[in-house]
Amino acid sequence: DEVKGFERGAVDYVTKPFSPVIIKARVRTHLELKKYRDLLENTSYCDGLTAIANRRRFDEYYALMWSVSIRESLPLSLIMIDIDNFKRFNDGYGHQEGDACLVRIAQKLAASVRRKTDLVARYGGEEFAVLLTEIESRDKAVAVAERLRVIVERHNFSYEGRQPGGSVTISIGVSCYPEDGLAVDDIIQAADEALYRAKNEGRNRVVASRLLEQHVSPSRLE
Ligand code: GH3
Ligand code: MG
Ligand code: MG
Repeated sequence: DEVKGFERGAVDYVTKPFSPVIIKARVRTHLELKKYRDLLENTSYCDGLTAIANRRRFDEYYALMWSVSIRESLPLSLIMIDIDNFKRFNDGYGHQEGDACLVRIAQKLAASVRRKTDLVARYGGEEFAVLLTEIESRDKAVAVAERLRVIVERHNFSYEGRQPGGSVTISIGVSCYPEDGLAVDDIIQAADEALYRAKNEGRNRVVASRLLEQHVSPSRLE
């Protein structure tokens, strides 16, 4: 029984008769272990600077939601965000102010997405990714992206009377499953390309992918 128990994933095995004192000590040990395991897991999924989800968390969550979407035929939307002219911001105000700005934008974005199953993550240096579940149309995903853009644009980044003041803007690319492709990478690429267009068309704007109409042959829709 003991071997079978451990083989099935038990962490401990207690035989009767047992002493309450020893049982309590063992339970305490396991609770401690669980606490540290959870802490480690949280830390490894959390971006060190901004305290929002990191890239590792995003990649795992995206893979999970992707499989759910395929299985249940549910839509999925991806929003890619890149801060505009951030190099100039760093050059002008210094890296420390740059970091502080990143933290504020990250927290603004994370606080602005409402559904429990949505995720806002730091995707790279000054890039963020937002995964929206249960958004049933491209227009609605674009509306969410536009809301995020306006929230950042309207935020006054001056605080305690210090520089830098005024607004910082973001550019956004939006893509949706299944409209923009039927593979994980298609959706990321579509959002990236839309973001690239948002930059080229003048920054501080939302561009939705139109890959499906442009590049995907009809046979892929079957
Ligand atoms: P664009 O509008 O085209 O996105 O211009 P940009 O200057 O934002 O783009 P670019 O990719 O040339 O530069 C990104 C800059 O973001 C470079 C780097 O200085 C800054 N950056 C990336 N990660 C961090 C970070 O963790 N902290 C700070 N302070 N800056 C960062
Ligand atoms: Mg960038
Ligand atoms: Mg940038």
